This record gives sequence, C-alpha cells and structure tokens, in this order.
Amino acid sequence: MSFDPNVKVGVLGGGQLGRMMIQSAIDLNLGIKVMDPDPNAPCKSLANEFVNGDIRDYDQVLSFGKSCDIITVEIENVNIEALEELEKKGKKVYPQPHALKLIKDKGIQKQFYLDHSIPTSEFVLTNSLEELYQHVNFLPGVHKLRTEGYDGRGVQVIKTEADFSKGFDKPALIEKFVDYDKEISVIVARNEKGDMTTYPVVELEYHPEANLVEFLFSPSGLPEDIKIQARELAKKVISSLDMVGLLAVEMFVTKQGEVIVNECAPRTHNSGHHTIEGNVTSQFEQHLRAILNLPLGDTAIKGSSVMINLLGEDGYDGLAQYEGLDEALQIEGLHVHLYGKKLTKPFRKMGHVTLVGQNLNDLKTIARSVKESIKIKA
Ligand code: ADP
Repeated sequence: MSFDPNVKVGVLGGGQLGRMMIQSAIDLNLGIKVMDPDPNAPCKSLANEFVNGDIRDYDQVLSFGKSCDIITVEIENVNIEALEELEKKGKKVYPQPHALKLIKDKGIQKQFYLDHSIPTSEFVLTNSLEELYQHVNFLPGVHKLRTEGYDGRGVQVIKTEADFSKGFDKPALIEKFVDYDKEISVIVARNEKGDMTTYPVVELEYHPEANLVEFLFSPSGLPEDIKIQARELAKKVISSLDMVGLLAVEMFVTKQGEVIVNECAPRTHNSGHHTIEGNVTSQFEQHLRAILNLPLGDTAIKGSSVMINLLGEDGYDGLAQYEGLDEALQIEGLHVHLYGKKLTKPFRKMGHVTLVGQNLNDLKTIARSVKESIKIKA
C-alpha cells in the first residue's frame, strides 16, 4: 500500500494514548475516528469523529470498524471477536486480533513466552484462592489476574504464606518474585513488510504505593551488551507474535545480569512518552507508520530525557486543579502534557512532563524537584 492520507483510521479507546496519536496523525493529514465509553474522553473534541460507545460490545465495535479502513487500539480491553470478524471481512486490524487475544490473558501470554524460549519468570496458573494456597514453593511470588488487570491493579505480591489471603479468587497466575536490579522497557515497531525497529532501552522507576511508573530515564545506563540483548528480545517477541504495530516489552534485568520479559502491551505505551521530544520519531508517529505499512522512522535519541507521570494527588477526588506548573514551565527543556481529564482521583494519570537535556544525572535531580512541586488536587 502506498501512502494515502484519505485512509480513515479507527481507534478503540479515546484516552491520552489516542489523544497523542491524534497529534501525530494531524502531521500526516490522517482522519482519526475514535470510540470510547466516556462521553468526555480525552480524545472527544480532538478526533475527526468521536463515537460514544462500548468498546467491549460486539455489535458496536463491528459497526464502528465497518466505517473505518484501518482499525487500531489504545487499550487491550476491547471486543476481540468483533475485530476477528472485521479482519475476516478484509479490514486491516493492527495489532491483529490473534496478538490481542494472546496478550490480553496473562496466562496465555506467559505460556507463549515458554513455547518460544523467551526468558520469563517461572509461573503456574491458579483458578481460585484455594489453589493458590497449594503453591508455597512459589514464594516469594507475585499473584496476577489473568485478565482485566492494569496499572498495577490486579497484581499482588505474596511474600509469605500469611499473604496468601491477599491473592485473587479468580483465574490468575502466581509467578516467582524477581529480585531485579532494574525494570526496563523496549518499544519495538513492525510493519506489514516485516521491517522492525526498536527504541533505545529506557529504565523505569515505579511509585511505591500506586504500582505505576513514576519516572522514566532515557537512555538506560546499563552495559551495552545487556541493552543489545533487550532490544533483540523485543524483536523476537514481536516477530514470534507475527504482529504489526507497536509493542512495548517490559523486562527485568536481574542482579545476575539476565534479561527476562515481564509482560508486553500491543500499543503505544507510557514507557514511550519521552519519545515525543526525546527521540527523532515519536512512538505515536511510529505506530501510525507501522499500521500504514510506511517506512519506520529513526528511533535515535536527540538527547537524554526524563519523563515524569503526573498522578492525581492521594486524598483528592473531583475537579482537577493544577499547582506548580508556572514554575515548572520556566525550566529549560521541560515540556508539559496534560491529558484533558476534568476529574482527578488518587493516582489517576492526569498528564506527564518530559525533560530533555544533555546530562541525565542533572535531569534526574531536576525531575525529582519538579515531581515535588507539581500537584494535582481537587
Ligand atoms: P500491570 O499489567 O498492572 O502493569 P505488571 O505485571 O507489569 O502489571 O506488574 C506491575 C509491577 O509489579 C511491575 O512493573 C513490577 O514492578 C512488579 N512485578 C510484577 N511482576 C513481578 C515479579 N515477578 N517480580 C517482582 N516484581 C514484579
């Protein structure tokens, strides 16, 4: 397919990821049609067309997809059967439904890693709490819901037998706790032709309570051989999935220097937000290039960068009020992204800030003070 700006791209989900995709779509003069169950979703007033609908409903997704040329997602929790039907009817659905189906269920996803010799922590499936209690040999472990968990919800650390009661009485998996040195991510893109490109490795630092990414550092300071290994692993995952689009592969680097896959997300991802200002091609443009079967863009860094997630302050629920933005905007190389969410709640992702500069250590120091000064309350 040669580039046709008249192609209509349908996006299931109208949150911040869709919103930032629209920013890139404008440059390519692409029409974006979005569907989201929230009538005030962040994409609402920015998409060419906005459909307020249920992305998990078969009929609604089918009729939405029929009106588009290419269908993509910004969230995994969509009606996959409808996407399969659209694919059968000859629509381009990227990521393909088979990849979405596999990734959506963490149990199937982990089994896929095993089947393809992709290193991952040992695991066993559990269907109930009662079954979990039988896996004392997996402690310390992490219990994860197979489906519908996101942003740390649906993940429970089980250190000792006394923590078993914190587990899930639903289909889940228990995996061995990884005593990791670093959490890293590699975003890989693949187009229909099978061209692949990876972004440089980034390091992630999680919020201790919210289980969400708080800081992202780019590029990673890990040894070169480990970074090459991680980028190769990301390519292996996307090609084994035979997937077209963007895939974020989250990995752990163990204290012994091993790289193992934690999980992946078949879409643009929080671990790629810094690429808007920090890399030659942003992840959002890259995703569009991949699903349109265009040449993939250069992923090289333009400088060092730090991304800070702006989370709703704990204890506040209601109309969002922003503190500290004027001061932050005075900082050289600082870029603010607000997602247009009217209501804040504890740890809700309300926006992010990216700092770009030459010295990563200096940026880290500035980032920690920026994090303290920007507050989102109600
Ligand atoms: P989610 O889909 O909610 O992001 P993850 O599987 O990524 O769930 O888990 C959330 C976080 O929990 C991870 O980023 C990591 O910090 C921690 N975690 C997950 N699995 C393990 C593990 N096996 N060992 C140690 N920490 C883990």
